[in-house]
Amino acid sequence: MGDLLKGISSFRGAVFPNQSALYRKLAREGQQPQALMISCADSRVMPETITQAGPGDLFVCRNAGNIVPPFSTLNGGVSSAIEYAILALGVSDIVVCGHSDCGAMKGLCHPELLEPMPNVAAWLRHSHAAHSIVCRAYPDDLSESDRVRAVAMENVVVQLDHLKTHPSVAAKLATSEITLHGWFFDIETGEVQVYDGAKATFTVPQEGEPLPVAVTGRDRPHVMPQIAATLAAE
Ligand SMILES: [Zn+2]
Repeated sequence: MGDLLKGISSFRGAVFPNQSALYRKLAREGQQPQALMISCADSRVMPETITQAGPGDLFVCRNAGNIVPPFSTLNGGVSSAIEYAILALGVSDIVVCGHSDCGAMKGLCHPELLEPMPNVAAWLRHSHAAHSIVCRAYPDDLSESDRVRAVAMENVVVQLDHLKTHPSVAAKLATSEITLHGWFFDIETGEVQVYDGAKATFTVPQEGEPLPVAVTGRDRPHVMPQIAATLAAE
């Protein structure tokens, strides 16, 4: 903890003075973050660092395994963060960010490791689909590290699907007011791969080209043909 205390002192003495005008503005006017980022609690995955974001840029929700439980009537921290980011802050982009060497994904691959941790085991049930996909659809002879990596990448896609079950997300997707992103951070190389929903694969974004996105809003807000026809006739 000594290093962390020194860090507080150094932030206050050397970093904050250079950014005090920005902090004052944020304190006065409130926050208007560019995106909600849901990432793993892993200490090696730092959303603000990998995006080079500053104060006020990112609304962050972190948990073991970057999990978004499907919407339910039970209250939860992730659901509340999603609702607040969309309805109170007007965030128009949500990023689910998985990563390499994820302990939560290793736990999914080796349930025996989770026996002494009943809460972790119960939490990770929201990621079982990712593990099942890898067991069923990927080659049997994957190395251990590739298997964990595959589960982590599939887990990002599963959690994006869960996001769509949240009413605040579903409503804004219907009116194309929100975009969902799936990212995968490689700790060893620093590379961020981005999920391209149209191609159903992760890809390395190229500078100067549009960022591939996972889920965009609907082309039409209504599925009911009578409503669409009435509105078109107006
Ligand atoms: Zn992790």
